[in-house]
Amino acid sequence: MPAATGAVGVMGGTFDPIHLGHLVAASEVAHRFGLSEVCFVPTGQPWQKSDRKVSDAVHRHAMTLIATASDPRFTVSTVDIDRPGPTYTVDTLRDLRATVGPDRPLAFITGADALNQILTWRDHDEVLRLARLIGVSRPGHRLTPPPVDGASVSLIEIPALAISSSDIRARVADGRPIRYLVPDGVDHYIAKTGLYRDDV
Ligand code: ATP
Ligand code: MG
Repeated sequence: MPAATGAVGVMGGTFDPIHLGHLVAASEVAHRFGLSEVCFVPTGQPWQKSDRKVSDAVHRHAMTLIATASDPRFTVSTVDIDRPGPTYTVDTLRDLRATVGPDRPLAFITGADALNQILTWRDHDEVLRLARLIGVSRPGHRLTPPPVDGASVSLIEIPALAISSSDIRARVADGRPIRYLVPDGVDHYIAKTGLYRDDV
């Protein structure tokens, strides 16, 4: 197989579960920024979400593979799952830089809401050296530029998709449908494994 070339988008997330909002955002960013690949990176133990039980990484990884399988631009990396301890963006980017080699620019894709917290990220200066940042808008969040100078930060609007993993988990727990909010394979996987059914 020839070595891949071109810029790589990095889409980190809990993906508990992955849904069409994530896939539309990745596709739109790839198109707008000419990325040849978007790598989905399920988190290890997410420090922002320590208040809630996050599903086992095996399930989150499996659903991410199922959801991305049909798109040749989309890949999945386990760097965050394989690294012990909480996930920090700087570690994700260092590991991916080592994986893809020195020649491919990295673009870290994140919700514009999360991007506004950038000054609280561990080693945020190094994050900004390792990757350009692309903030995607979500319904209900305004696009305000993050408080960093001179960095390569872009903000783009994603077609309004009011889909969130939290809502999908609540729907499964209530017995409401999630069809057309997640890829069919992810819907089937959730039904088969009983994920989220007993969430309170
Ligand atoms: P939760 O409801 O549990 O917080 P989530 O739907 O926000 O889950 P995450 O795995 O936390 O999903 O999100 C991963 C990344 O995708 C984040 O940067 C998030 O802002 C972004 N994202 C999530 N949902 C959407 C959406 N509908 N449109 C665009 N971006 C989204
Ligand atoms: Mg979220």
